[in-house]
Amino acid sequence: MQEELIYSKNIVTPEGIEDGYLRISQGKIVSITDKVPFDFKGPITDAEHLYLMPGLVDPHVHINEPGRTHWEGFETATLAAAASGITTLVDMPLNSSPVTINEHNFQIKLKASEDKLNVNVGFWGGVVPGNENELDDLLKGGVLGLKAFMTHSGIDDFPNSEYHELKNALLTLKKYGRPLLVHCELSADHPGIEKHKGNPTSYKDYLASRPKDWENKAIEQMIQLCRETKSHVHIVHLSSAEALSMIEEAKAEGLPLSVETAQHYLVFCAEEIPDGTTMYKCAPPIREKANNELLWQALKDGLISFVATDHSPAPPELKESESGNLYKAWGGIAGLQFALSSFWTAAHERGFTVTDVAKWLAENPADFLQMKNKGRLVAGADADLFIWNPKAKISIGENEIHHRHKISPYANREWLGQVIATYVNGVKVYENGMLKNPHQGHVLLKK
Ligand SMILES: [Zn+2]
Repeated sequence: MQEELIYSKNIVTPEGIEDGYLRISQGKIVSITDKVPFDFKGPITDAEHLYLMPGLVDPHVHINEPGRTHWEGFETATLAAAASGITTLVDMPLNSSPVTINEHNFQIKLKASEDKLNVNVGFWGGVVPGNENELDDLLKGGVLGLKAFMTHSGIDDFPNSEYHELKNALLTLKKYGRPLLVHCELSADHPGIEKHKGNPTSYKDYLASRPKDWENKAIEQMIQLCRETKSHVHIVHLSSAEALSMIEEAKAEGLPLSVETAQHYLVFCAEEIPDGTTMYKCAPPIREKANNELLWQALKDGLISFVATDHSPAPPELKESESGNLYKAWGGIAGLQFALSSFWTAAHERGFTVTDVAKWLAENPADFLQMKNKGRLVAGADADLFIWNPKAKISIGENEIHHRHKISPYANREWLGQVIATYVNGVKVYENGMLKNPHQGHVLLKK
């Protein structure tokens, strides 16, 4: 593999922004120096004033292949990721078919991913009632950790778990030092659900049908399980800011608890979602502006470690785009290709910097995945990186969306930040809107 040198006035490193030359060889970052290394003979890419960033790491993506490849797929998802500067993502154990709940199904998933990965991909396994004897084999097979639900997942082949099943999974995971990712909502009947059914295009009624209390109660229970087992609990896509005080206390107590939120909870707010616009439907729901500003504060304070897309697309008919029926519509937002630009736009408005973006979208999620060789531009790390112009305004329309389906609340809006080129394992895979060198991604197994 040829060597390459990239010059940039703005190399975003964990120590700050440096003006220098980043040397790539054999898929690794060899050095960052202020002059051309004396022994360097290869080509030099001059990125001038453009920024050189660590490749983003997205630990929460639903690729849905095999079995629901008409929803998304490895080819399209990993291309959309590269277009957003994401060089590593982790696939959820649902909504593929079969779901990744045992080693046999995991092998089917691995087979389905062959020769399709434009970025690096790891995998989560799943916890469902009755698969407690499969978890060791799944973990030995290389999944990075396990995912469970406390409420209906949306698909019947991935049922939610009860307290004792979650506890068992945590005790198993503890042996491997890997996390349990939990969708925290404890559903309970209340009049708001009936009201929502009766008026299914109202966003306000949808929001009221999945109250903060569902999340708060579930998180309280997971903190208790974390305390009982001392095993790593990770709360995915936090939406209720009311749970932050509990999280703060649990962390102060020293419990192994971590939290992510998603771009859509930070970028959008309930007040601005028009009725009957099902592309905003997700669970837990996008809440009020005041709530979401508290999520930003929690990110700043370090209570929330990182931001992940929870990219969860579905075909237009399942999204009920025509009817606008929020009750019937599939819950999930397609946002992989907008992970960087939407987040950066909203972060920039609040006075955050590109260094903050590198921390929240690259370094912290890489640390969460225990991948110290990813998410940062330092000598010895993997050459996963991208060149971008954080000042450029962009708008991505249907023709430029690489997701299998083009429905996304992020489409056709003005965002800040244009990805010029993305490198995966030292190879330029994407440049100026086009796939350059396909299938450079590696499967990331934990052993
Ligand atoms: Zn998800």
